[in-house]
Order: sequence, then C-alpha cells, then structure tokens
Amino acid sequence: MGLIPRETIERILEATDIVDLIGGYFPLKRSGSDFKINCPFHGEKTPSFNISPARQRYKCFGCDASGSALNFLMEYENLPFVDAVRKLADRAGIPIIEEAHDPESDRKRRKISRLKELNNKAARFFHEQLLKNPDAAHAREYLKSRGFSKETAQKWLIGWAPSNSNLFLRMAKEGGFNGREILQAGLGGLREKDNPRSGLWVKFYDQLTFPIQNDVDDVVGFSARILRQDDKRGKYINTNETPLFNKSKLLFALNKARRAMGKEKFALICEGQVDAIVLHESGFENTIAPLGTAFTEQHARMIKRYTDRVVLCYDGDSAGLAAADKTFKQLTAQGLPVRLMHLPEGEDPDTFVKKNGAETFRELLDSAKEYFDAKLDKELKTINLSSPAERTKLLQDLAKSVCVMDDDLLRDATTQNLAIRLRLGVDDFRQAVAAAKKDLKRFSPRENDDKKAAKVEPTAIDHFVIYLCHLALNSEAAAEYIREQLENLQECLTETLGSHVLLDILSKRPNPESLASKQAYLMTIPTSDRIALEDGFSDSLPEDPVTSASDTITMLSARFYQIKEKALRTRLNDPNLTSEQIFEAFDEVKRLQLILKELDQRF
Ligand code: ZN
Repeated sequence: MGLIPRETIERILEATDIVDLIGGYFPLKRSGSDFKINCPFHGEKTPSFNISPARQRYKCFGCDASGSALNFLMEYENLPFVDAVRKLADRAGIPIIEEAHDPESDRKRRKISRLKELNNKAARFFHEQLLKNPDAAHAREYLKSRGFSKETAQKWLIGWAPSNSNLFLRMAKEGGFNGREILQAGLGGLREKDNPRSGLWVKFYDQLTFPIQNDVDDVVGFSARILRQDDKRGKYINTNETPLFNKSKLLFALNKARRAMGKEKFALICEGQVDAIVLHESGFENTIAPLGTAFTEQHARMIKRYTDRVVLCYDGDSAGLAAADKTFKQLTAQGLPVRLMHLPEGEDPDTFVKKNGAETFRELLDSAKEYFDAKLDKELKTINLSSPAERTKLLQDLAKSVCVMDDDLLRDATTQNLAIRLRLGVDDFRQAVAAAKKDLKRFSPRENDDKKAAKVEPTAIDHFVIYLCHLALNSEAAAEYIREQLENLQECLTETLGSHVLLDILSKRPNPESLASKQAYLMTIPTSDRIALEDGFSDSLPEDPVTSASDTITMLSARFYQIKEKALRTRLNDPNLTSEQIFEAFDEVKRLQLILKELDQRF
C-alpha cells in the first residue's frame, strides 16, 4: 500500500455509493433503512447480508464478511487492493496519480493484467481472422450453416484460430508478449516439458474460437471447436487452467445473462456454447452454459447469487441425462429448485430453435416439469418396472439424487411422490434415501469451506483502547484531547493490548467529519486491525466525547497502575530481596500510589 494517495481513495469512496455498487451485481431487497441480499460469500437461503447506506458498509451476519465498497470489490471480484481502487475510480471518473511503486505488488498486478490483455488481444485477433483471412472460408461457411449472422459473430467475438500457428505467434510478438506469457495465459505449451529452449506449440489452430469472459467482461480464456471431420482433437477444447481461467469458477455467458436471470427469476442452463449463443440470440438472455461437463458446487453458488430457480435444457440421450443428473445434484444441494425440459429425440436447442422457432421453444420451456417428474417420464420409457432388478436399480439411482436435496420438507415430499409413481412403499423409498445419504457421507467427506479457513481473526485490542479509537475516529475534539494526553499515557500504552491501533489513528488523522476519509484510512491498516475496530464500533457518539475520552483514559490508567502496584507489593514479600531492591520497590510503590490518588481525584 501507500502507492495511491489516501486523499485519492477518499475522493473515490466519496463518489461511490455502496448500495449502487452492490445493486449493480444483485437485486437488492429493502429492509428498513438498509438493504438485504443472500450473502455472495457463503451459501444461504435467507438473506443475512446487510448493506447500510448510512454507514456505507456491508456486513454478513452469517459469515462475518464486512467492509466498505472497496472491500466488496476486492472480495467479490477477487481483485488486489490497487485494482479494486482503479475499478472504483474508473466507475466514478476520478483519475489516479500514483505516488511511488511497490515492486512486488506491481509485478503481480502487471502479470495478471498482461494475461488479460493477451487474452483480449487474442480474441480480437481470432475474430479478425474469421472475418478476413481467405483461409477461414470453411469457418465462415460453418457459422453460416448454423445460422449465425455477422452481427452475432461480432457480439460474441467469435473467431477463427488460423491453421498457421505462426500468425498467432507473430501477433503476440508484435503486441510485445513473450513466450512465457503465452504459456502463462494457457494459449500454448512447450514442445518438450521443462525445456524452455524446445520452442512453443500453440493451443488453438484451425478451430472456431469462443472467448470466455468472467462476470466483469474480461476475456480470460477460450473454448474452441474443431471444424473438419477428420480433425482428431476433441470436439471442444478449452484454454489450459491459468490464474485467470478456472473452469470450476466460470460459466459461459454469465456476464451477459446475469441481469436477465434476475429479471426472469430463473437461469436456463444448456450444455454448450453454441446452444447458449443461439438461445441468447433467440431472446432467452438468461441462458448460461458450463465449460465442459463438470458442473461444480461453486457454479451452483454463483447462480444462486443472481436467481433462485433453474431450468436445465440438456440433450435427451443417456450422456445428456447423466450430465443433467450431476448438475441437478449440485443445484439442489444449494436449495435451488430445478426443472428439466425435454427436446425431441436427437435435437439440441440450436437445431430445435432453427426448425421450430423461438416461440415453440418457449412453450416447451414453460411446460418444463419438476426435475424428478421429467426424469421419470424419460426413464420409464426404457425401464420395465415389473422387473425387480430394474426397479431396484432405478430406486437406488433416484435415491442418490434425492438424498442431496437441501430442504428437508421438499426432500420428503419428493420421496413420497416418487414412491407413488413407482408403486413402491414410502418407507422403502425413505430407507433407500437414508442409505444413499450415508454412502455419500462415507465417500465424500465435506470439503472444508475455503472461505472459512482463510478468515482473518481480529487483532486483540483492550476494550478501553477500542473505545478511545472509536472516539478519535469520530470526534476531532476527542482525538485532539487524546493526543495531548499521550505523553502521560506512554508507560501505560506500551503495555496495553492493541495500543498501536490507537496511535496509528492519532498520527494519520483521518477526518472524523467524512465517512469516506475514515473508510479510506481503514483500508490502509492491516485487515485484522480493521476488523477489530469495526467489530468494536458502536453507532453513536457520546454527548460529550472529550469528557468520555478523559474518563476512559482515567480508567485505563487506574487499572494499569493498580495492577502494577499490586505486583510490586507481592514482590516486596520476597525474602530474597536486597535492602537496595527493597528501597527501590518502596519508592516505586509510593510513586504509583501518588499517581493513583491523583487519578482517583479526577473522578
Ligand atoms: Zn456471508
């Protein structure tokens, strides 16, 4: 820290309304003079994340996350401090002039922003190639055959990775990027592992490229599709995992879909990027897609930030059903109700919409059934219920999905419904669910919540000192008074917990009249100190802050000198003291008693 002047941070915070900022991410619910949402930092069903316009702070009563607009940006978008400041500054239109450079954080920040820049550049480069390179005719032809217009390609920045990898390498080189950066961005690899001299291979060539954006519109990687029948590579491949590109934390089109997800009150999840684009272009702007088959707990939590219902539109074949099942389990474990829509055999959203139009698709979507009903409709077509073996298999399969449901009531209602539909005893089904739940616990011990593991503990600060901090931060007169008393307090403060926090406030002088100034100041001290201060804060100032400061100082000193005097008296009982030591101790006791007497008179 110390790179951006505190006054600049103050101005930025002054120009930022935390309600506005967080409201740009989630629909807010009013709650008295405050606002509430489901906490973005931990899974929950009833909102305990409170945003206060008056204090310009948020606080979660579930996981204790708290802070200013800046803390929110840092936590939610996983940004380093300086980047969060820049982002808020951009938003508020305030220029940043840096004071000095901190090489280490500068290096990290530069690295991450270089990787983003390279990805963004690559996306534009691939897009240009698609539009202009004569060798990309088959790629343009393919898009046309799928009914993609030029506007769609532009909007989604669809591209073509040239067959000749040297074109990509030349572009990167001319843009000032080196081989190491291409590696770090997940866009290439070494020909020989661990041998930087062996040269680079390029990840994407002769493929259609779909940029993957994070939820704030930065391109962080690519998903690429092969174009030729005889291409031996996978149909879709993604960027290698990088600090920016983590498949379990990214959902395709989430940046474009999040507002519609809130408005429509549900998310439509389909299997692939092409399907997602087609659905967006057909007016279903709440569509998202995972990158590849893995749908994770994090994905489910991300969706829960924006909406509280989900419809799955997966292929009707067995692979599609298996993928839908995995996705359902993650979503239901987060308490999200899930419906499943069926397209006719052999169709995917892309082909279906082209053939039948968006309106027919919407009819199917509207009639999507609750997950288990839809699943059974499908399964019962191929399963013979009168065969005990097949029935047991189906029962066990269903029990595995039912047992992860988060809501007890819903789980039991589902159990009863399924038992009726399958003509089974409800108790048999309950037993199967209980057994499946036991298995689940045995085989996958719940991973520790990484958020909790990383939680910062507040600094231990003496309660008198905390109160003085509170007075100093909120009253100029009290701060001035405490400053005047510092000389007398020195001895006492050196032995009192957390006094460094008070001394720092007194020397850095944040302006008690300005919320932004105080918040900017709090951003400059260690997180553990900030949390301790915020936890210890009360909302109101006493009527006479100077008298309160004076009383607190008196109590703090009295306690300190009493303890000291008592320790000395105990020491005087020690038979091994030399007479010199005894005289010394006596003098000291006298001095302390004098001080205590004086303090006593002050009350
Ligand atoms: Zn929380």
